[in-house]
Amino acid sequence: MVQVINNKTFKGISPNKLMEATYRAAENFQVRAFYEAKNEILKVGKYTEEEFFKILDAMIDAETERKLILERLKSKEPLFLEEIVKIIKEFSPDNVIRDIIYLKEQGYIDEKIEVKTKKVIKKIKGEEKEVEEKEYFYRYQVKDLPDDFIEHYFEPVSIVFEAEVCCHCGWCSSICPVNAITVTADILEIDDNACMKCGLCYTICPRSFSIDQAYKSIKNLDKSLKWSDKIGAYYNTYSGSTTKDKIKKVRQDGGVVTTLLEYLLKNKLVDAIVAVQHSVDLWRPEPVIVDNIKDLYKTGGTKYANSPSLEIIDKAKQYNRLAVVGVPCMMKAIEKATLFPSGLPFFNNIKYKIGLFCMESFSYAKIINLVKDKFDKEINELTKMNIDKGKFIINLTSGEEMAVDLKEVQSYARHTCHFCEDLTSDYADISVGSIGSQAGWSSVITRSKEIDEIYKGAVKDGLIESQNLKEVKPGQFLVERIAGVKRTKCKDPFLELKKKSQ
Ligand SMILES: Cc1cc2nc3c(=O)[nH]c(=O)nc-3n(C[C@H](O)[C@H](O)[C@H](O)COP(=O)(O)OP(=O)(O)OC[C@H]3O[C@@H](n4cnc5c(N)ncnc54)[C@H](O)[C@@H]3O)c2cc1C
Ligand code: SF4
Ligand code: SF4
Ligand code: SF4
Repeated sequence: MVQVINNKTFKGISPNKLMEATYRAAENFQVRAFYEAKNEILKVGKYTEEEFFKILDAMIDAETERKLILERLKSKEPLFLEEIVKIIKEFSPDNVIRDIIYLKEQGYIDEKIEVKTKKVIKKIKGEEKEVEEKEYFYRYQVKDLPDDFIEHYFEPVSIVFEAEVCCHCGWCSSICPVNAITVTADILEIDDNACMKCGLCYTICPRSFSIDQAYKSIKNLDKSLKWSDKIGAYYNTYSGSTTKDKIKKVRQDGGVVTTLLEYLLKNKLVDAIVAVQHSVDLWRPEPVIVDNIKDLYKTGGTKYANSPSLEIIDKAKQYNRLAVVGVPCMMKAIEKATLFPSGLPFFNNIKYKIGLFCMESFSYAKIINLVKDKFDKEINELTKMNIDKGKFIINLTSGEEMAVDLKEVQSYARHTCHFCEDLTSDYADISVGSIGSQAGWSSVITRSKEIDEIYKGAVKDGLIESQNLKEVKPGQFLVERIAGVKRTKCKDPFLELKKKSQ
């Protein structure tokens, strides 16, 4: 997880400049809305008074920092984030990167994108061919603004829902300080009477504005990580399979997720896990908080209907250390709230993010239709669903297995998934999927030294058999290829949102 440092003091800044910047920071609409709603927020009880002031303090610090950065970059030519980090030495590089991206959203900074085309040789169907590849370069420049310029105001996330790009991760519902948002797998509702228009839900929503440039630049600062345009920043890659018979009975692929979760719980590295199990309706995922092994085993296996899992994070506050399992859009949502608006996570008990690979998900109603239309079966006849080697496969209580081409079921996928560019949960601490590994094995991407050591600990204890993903067939090559296809096919959610809000 990105660790953004909060500035408790502003070293090296003259008192005058600091006072002016703090004054301007206090005028920010988000800071004001949050402060003015103090009584309502404390009444709801989601944040204690101490937490409220910590969040407010961090928001003011971050806003002050942004105003100071703006002053320093005035009248400068367009610069790469890396160049800006070298100029602004008073704040940590992570902070500066976060601030530039937020200043762009607040309307102070222009993002200038330059596209260069280069010719590369690629092997296509066994033949070497010269193809054109586009490279994008992002520079940032402070705008020349009129004196009466007003900072952009962030609307509540009903605009994301109305633009049909909401992925129903549930995160905004957990974050909203006054509990004004209800998110289910299919709907999002905001109670206008309760909403105090702080725009925090917009800030942390994975579909409101892009964090790709911030993510890439921050990860590039960590020299222990490797970088792939297709699967993001990573430390190591593996193919793993559980050795535990009980987990083999409930797993989807290699059972790596459930095994790792058991290892985390048993070694007291976490106190609880946020995962999903079947609800009373079979195959309808229900987000759950689990703090024991018996309940953990109920979460094994993939439910292809979407789950608003992050909606329950605010109900897990009694646990000091959580591991959260989810699909890529959820991993991005959590990471976004770690960066914005202040670098102080709203729930700092999220210790590990365990991300799944995900090409698409389906609404529960569409899953029922799909099973009926394509296989002429009822949902409760199924013991497993799987997507493998271009097929959608179901296993039945009768022991029979049936499959159709994946292309045949794609029209059943959720509309919002067409706006998703991430296959491998780039924003997770560790990502797990089936693509790249043999049946009964999972492909694993560790994204920090810390989680890599945890994975290796589970292997050393004999809980997971593990191989190098680059040395198995089809291996990392296939993961990168499919991840690249997902990125290329993805529609731009931010463009869609802009179109709807104009
Ligand atoms: C909607 C969806 C689509 C997927 N698409 C692909 C794909 O295209 N390619 C690919 O390689 N892998 C995909 N996966 C991941 C894959 O199905 C396995 O989850 C992954 O390989 C881990 O297997 P495992 O045996 O280690 O996990 P297990 O040990 O079986 O654990 C599975 C974990 O997944 C969680 N989970 C199950 N359903 C959901 C859900 N709907 N939302 C959030 N969490 C859930 C459970 O809580 C559990 O912790 C997808 C997963 C989901 C949920
Ligand atoms: S945070 Fe998640 S649930 Fe809320 S609007 Fe954004 S995508 Fe939808
Ligand atoms: S709905 Fe959004 S804008 Fe309204 S109070 Fe909640 S977080 Fe703030
Ligand atoms: S495809 Fe993307 S938006 Fe859809 S469920 Fe998977 S991660 Fe979320």
